[in-house]
Parts: sequence; structure tokens; C-alpha cells
Amino acid sequence: MLRLSSFTILSFIACSRTWIPALTWKPMRTDRCPICGSESAEVLQLHFNAKMNLPTEVTLRHCASDNLLFVASGDQNSYDEYYESLANDSYHSELAGGDLHSPIAKLQRDQLARLLDGFFSQLQKVLDFGCGEGWLLMELASEFPSSIFRGFGPSPGAPIGSLKAQTLGLKNLTISDQKPGDAPYDLIIASHMVEHLLNFDLLHSWNSLLAENGLLYIEVPNSLQYATHERREFLYYFDRIHVNHFTPSRWCGSWQRMGSVMLDILNTSFPIAMAVNTQH
Ligand SMILES: [Zn+2]
Repeated sequence: MLRLSSFTILSFIACSRTWIPALTWKPMRTDRCPICGSESAEVLQLHFNAKMNLPTEVTLRHCASDNLLFVASGDQNSYDEYYESLANDSYHSELAGGDLHSPIAKLQRDQLARLLDGFFSQLQKVLDFGCGEGWLLMELASEFPSSIFRGFGPSPGAPIGSLKAQTLGLKNLTISDQKPGDAPYDLIIASHMVEHLLNFDLLHSWNSLLAENGLLYIEVPNSLQYATHERREFLYYFDRIHVNHFTPSRWCGSWQRMGSVMLDILNTSFPIAMAVNTQH
């Protein structure tokens, strides 16, 4: 998935195996909010050319309680099929300019390490779910050689990332397009992934992959800052790919209503990081 640290809400969530959502999420998008199920207001209508089975008529709707803008059509299977067909991770490679290290991924790594504060002082097992070409993992695995890193992505980006890890000689990093089989993990990273997610049931799967007291790190664009981005024409606009547009405070609230307790929040000029514990 797309990764960019400078337009993000970052969150750390310590996860529970007893995550019980208040509502049942539907596999297909409807006019109701995908988080809380509330009725929503229509905001914008867009028309797109046909591309695989993605929706062509797209309505963006707004849930007031989550302050969430969301695409109200489409189904997860069609989107999965789309993402399996392409490497949706070009921004890092563009900025890396042929290098195997992305400057944005280094920023992401530093923010993550700062927020976790000492987390990598002991061996940790980390999964990046939806890792794209594994740019962030390259930086983490290089910086923290005593921890083990796994990357999973269904797209053609995964073999590209795997090759890069081998080129860099990173023995503590494996990247695959096959679902990971060596759970539990101490940390699961979902970086620039959840804004593409139609069906939030995947969040439950992540919980089941986490060790006790494991952490979930989620990074998504901060929609309140779209207008200030110098490259908003590239990433931060309304389309049928970004199906969720989050805002920091309400997103924290959404997690809390799903049974989480906020541990920490980091609010820099653009990225916002929060820590939430669901084990209580
Ligand atoms: Zn809602």
C-alpha cells in the first residue's frame, strides 16, 4: 500500500484477543458508516472509468460520530483482486531515486521507534501487513538487527521487496506474498493500508496474530491536512482507492468505542501517533 509519513495519523494499539466490536461490519459498502453502522450524509459523487471490478459510480459519505468520509460502494473481494494485480507503492521508489532506502521510510522508522520508546531494546517479532515493497521494513530491519521482521503483501510488490532485502543482506527480514505462518507477533504494522480497507473485519485477524500485550501500529493519512500537501494531486485526493478518510481525534474515539484504552498520543506538525490498549 502507499506509504507516506508526512501526512499521517499514526497509532499504536496494544491489542486484546477479546476485541468485541459493538457492531457487525458488512463485507460490502453501503450508505451506512463502515465503523459504527450509523446513517450517513452524502457529500460527493464521482464517476470513474471501468477498471477491473472497482465501482465506477462512487459516492463519498460522512459519518458525523466518527467524522469519517467513506466510499459507500464496492466490495472487499473486488478491491483485493485489484491490489493483487499491481504494486501500489511507487512513492517510495520515486523518492529513493534508485537507492534501496527511502527517505520517507526513514522518517517513518524514526517516528515509530520514538513512539515505542525502547521497544526494540529486546528481541521483537514484527509483521508488516500490507507491506508493499517493504520500504519501511528495510529501515527497521537495518536499524534493529536483533529483531525479526516479516512482511506480507498480496501484490507484485512483495517479490520486489524480498529481492531488495536479499540485496541488502538483511537476514532478519523476509517478505512474501503468502500470508504469514509464524504468529504470534509482538508488533503488527499496518502502514497506509487501512485507508484502503473496505471491510474492517481484518482488524480482528490482526488481533488473533498478536502475542499477549502485542501492539498494533496503524498509520493513515490525516484527512484534515490534505489541503496543505504540496503533492496532493499525487496522493491526497478523493478517489475510489482511498475508501476511508480519517481525522485524528475522532479516529481515536472510534478505537475507544471498539473497546480500546488510549495509552499515548504523539501529535507533531502533521503525523499524529496514538497508543491504545485493548487489554483491560
Ligand atoms: Zn460511524
